[in-house]
Amino acid sequence: MIEIQDLHKSYKMGTNSLHVLKGINFSVKEGELVSIMGSSGSGKSTLLNILGMLDEADKGSYLLDGLPIKNLNEKIAARYRNKFLGFIFQSFNLISYKSALDNVALPLYYQGVKRSERIDKAMAYLEKVGLSNWSGHLPNELSGGQKQRVAIARALASDPKVLLADEPTGALDTKTSYEVMDLIQGINDEGRTILVVTHEPDIAQMTKRIVNLKDGLIIDDTKVEQVRALSNV
Ligand code: ATP
Ligand code: MG
Repeated sequence: MIEIQDLHKSYKMGTNSLHVLKGINFSVKEGELVSIMGSSGSGKSTLLNILGMLDEADKGSYLLDGLPIKNLNEKIAARYRNKFLGFIFQSFNLISYKSALDNVALPLYYQGVKRSERIDKAMAYLEKVGLSNWSGHLPNELSGGQKQRVAIARALASDPKVLLADEPTGALDTKTSYEVMDLIQGINDEGRTILVVTHEPDIAQMTKRIVNLKDGLIIDDTKVEQVRALSNV
């Protein structure tokens, strides 16, 4: 599903340049649940943003579902992003003046799905994340865990092949984090490929494979006996 080879990324700052990714090689097969770990500043978000086509590498190759991702014009890039990728962020990134339902329905609007179908689908995804009774509520009327569930429903609404989550539990307490990971495990059980950036070892243990970044390189890539999230609560 994802194949990257010798990926490099530097940030230019004036005359200086910060070499963040120094030759990353890895691949993710369909249906995997992978966590990316590493200390703050190790380049986790940089890597995830490149995988998510929100940023481009300076060097190296990236194949997404067999398609080379390089120098695409913005229109094609947007089409690929919508078709292949769903995003979940630490800070939820919900639209504050739209209801939970309308937040989930938004990607479907951009896909040109007609209104009645949008509402039906968005309701079904809210139900899937356990929030069917909260559809009319605004984000600020929801708890952190509920907001993240809405964000997950929104990410699923466009039926992406890969879910990319950058610190999805970073703003949540332990119990709520496990509940969100339980939901993520359930979505993975259905066959969806998921990458989770985290710096919490407990959260990483709830994925099936842990990739460790340090000094711009992968220093460790280990299969784990997945811990089921709810058994930890
Ligand atoms: P954290 O755990 O704190 O989220 P991270 O592993 O996600 O860290 P990145 O956000 O990928 O780290 O950043 C890697 C390095 O690149 C850091 O030193 C950061 O300051 C730098 N960096 C990130 N984005 C930019 C940017 N747009 N311009 C310049 N430097 C950047
Ligand atoms: Mg980060």
